[in-house]
Amino acid sequence: MGILDGKTALVTGSTSGIGLACARAYAKEGANIVINGFGDKDAIEAERAGIEKEFGVKAIYSGADMTKPDQIADMIEQARKAFGKIDVLHNNAGVQHVDPIEDFPIDKWDLIIALNLTSSFHTTRLVMKQMKEAGWGRLIFTASAHALVASPYKAAYVAAKHGIAGLTKVLALEGAEHGVTANAICPGYVWTPLVEKQIPDTMKARHMTKDEVIEEVILEAQPTKKFVTVEQVAALAVYLCSDAAENINGSMQQIDGGWVAQ
Ligand code: NAD
Repeated sequence: MGILDGKTALVTGSTSGIGLACARAYAKEGANIVINGFGDKDAIEAERAGIEKEFGVKAIYSGADMTKPDQIADMIEQARKAFGKIDVLHNNAGVQHVDPIEDFPIDKWDLIIALNLTSSFHTTRLVMKQMKEAGWGRLIFTASAHALVASPYKAAYVAAKHGIAGLTKVLALEGAEHGVTANAICPGYVWTPLVEKQIPDTMKARHMTKDEVIEEVILEAQPTKKFVTVEQVAALAVYLCSDAAENINGSMQQIDGGWVAQ
């Protein structure tokens, strides 16, 4: 028996990193799963089939691009056709770009705002009515420590994540009387491809070696000097779905080794 038996969880950007770990954790709790994201077709299919086999649930895949509202609508429709409803919507897909504002490419700004912020508006606007009618729903956002504090050279990311903090609070109020909670998880640095990929840009922007970036920028921000793990983030997400968490609403859940306490 899992806490999500008979429920459906859709996780955007779940072919990798935090999203994949959360999708697997929801499946372990009995939820049918909608996986979304990019990547190698065969690897995604192996992951999808593996989730079904390991956890005894159904899992479907949508390759919808979360920067495209029409593709988001198709994904929601596909999920409804397969499972009838969506009980847990976890808005997680996101990318990063690191550059000083004077060099920040316009297309990167547009991409990050569309993916890391606006996609959550489009997914949520399409499931909120159904969650309210069902009298139960969990809106979970993978925000970031950067929803609460800033770092230089991450203008678009920090702006988008602060936007997610605001959106989470609004949705918490709109869902409060309907059994629908909205919470943002705010991880510090988690070792995933997203972090790995920003190392070369940070090396360039700060004139540092790879080891210097890891020690002096990344782990410097985290008082524990340890990366957060994807499993730790997923465990927090599962907790937010539990009955014990029904009064946790509109919160920013820091999981950052003490970063924003400084
Ligand atoms: P990741 O690169 O491992 O995963 C990103 C996922 O998003 C992948 O599945 C990718 O295919 C998907 N994706 C990218 N563009 C997409 C698009 N246009 N449409 C649909 N899917 C798309 O990265 P991650 O570190 O697991 O990041 C997941 C979330 O966690 C992001 O929102 C990120 O900002 C946030 N986050 C990460 C960290 C960290 O240190 N890794 C810290 C705080 C917050």
